[in-house]
Amino acid sequence: MESKLKVRYVEKRATNSTAKQTRGNEQSLLLEARLIAAVRGRELHVHFQPQYEVECGQGSGVEALARWTSPDGEEISPTVFIPIAERIAMICPLGAWVLGHACETVARWGSSGGRAPTLSVNVSTHQINERFADVIHRALKSTGLPPAQLELEITESALIGDAELAIACCEEWRALGVRIAVDDFGTGYSSLSYLARLPVDRLKLDKSFAQRMTFEKKTAAIVRSVLALGKEMGVGVLVEGVETEQQFALLERMGCQQVQGYLLAKPVPAVEARALLIIPWGARLAPISRPSHAIARGLHAA
Ligand code: C2E
Ligand code: MG
Ligand code: MG
Repeated sequence: MESKLKVRYVEKRATNSTAKQTRGNEQSLLLEARLIAAVRGRELHVHFQPQYEVECGQGSGVEALARWTSPDGEEISPTVFIPIAERIAMICPLGAWVLGHACETVARWGSSGGRAPTLSVNVSTHQINERFADVIHRALKSTGLPPAQLELEITESALIGDAELAIACCEEWRALGVRIAVDDFGTGYSSLSYLARLPVDRLKLDKSFAQRMTFEKKTAAIVRSVLALGKEMGVGVLVEGVETEQQFALLERMGCQQVQGYLLAKPVPAVEARALLIIPWGARLAPISRPSHAIARGLHAA
């Protein structure tokens, strides 16, 4: 009797999990179809998140981040649709569109006066191939954005796959005059020996570090070490995900030079990003909440 019950229980679980799996597959197929329609129907757009110099509070660049708003107003996160685009081989046209659109936007800012900001664009591992140099070249040529203003962000996982290909491609892109950054640095289990061979201009320390360093001594030690590593290697380090004044103040004490995060600015449409870059970020805070002298210097500069 007991074993009969057990069999029935196992059967029921199997039916449930098959049903769940089928529902999951259906949902994922539906999203794939919706994404194809979204790309055709121009439901995708790009937001820009400003990046700041810690010392003076000046905006130094922006990161282009793809956005998908469906016709009924639903926002679908890039953490959901980028992996789908990768799976259905749409990431190359999607990535090329983001690159072209972002270059066009920032090239327009450059000609309207002021200090020209760097434009960071995320590059999927699937775009690391011999054809992408052409895509970069065309985006720069058609928009007039100076190559030195463009930074391509690759993640450490690109090095875990075919490291030789990633190194060769980065060398080729750099020969075009663009800069290379390693995004989400510290989370991809890549080997330091590859880092030594990768032609890289900047490390973007993953946001998980900024978020834990104020209450975890070991994480703070890692942040300090990565800042020192960047200095020794002669590459910049930007810390991502700065959300609180406490985190900002600690980074300032550690000698961090560049930051990005919700405390300073969220990803916003191009017009707003342009406006945010013009005003040093400290000048946007109420005097009472200004955490440090660096922000006061930002105020002076305004
Ligand atoms: P990412 O390249 O590391 O971009 C930073 C992500 O962190 C963005 O999420 C941004 O909104 C978020 N962020 C910025 N500051 C903070 C903060 O202070 N706190 C927290 N909690 N988050 C912060 P988003 O826009 O959802 O993008 C997620 C990821 O999707 C990106 O991570 C990137 O890997 C990918 N992605 C976005 N756009 C593109 C694209 O055009 N091409 C490719 N290949 N990937 C993209
Ligand atoms: Mg990025
Ligand atoms: Mg990142």
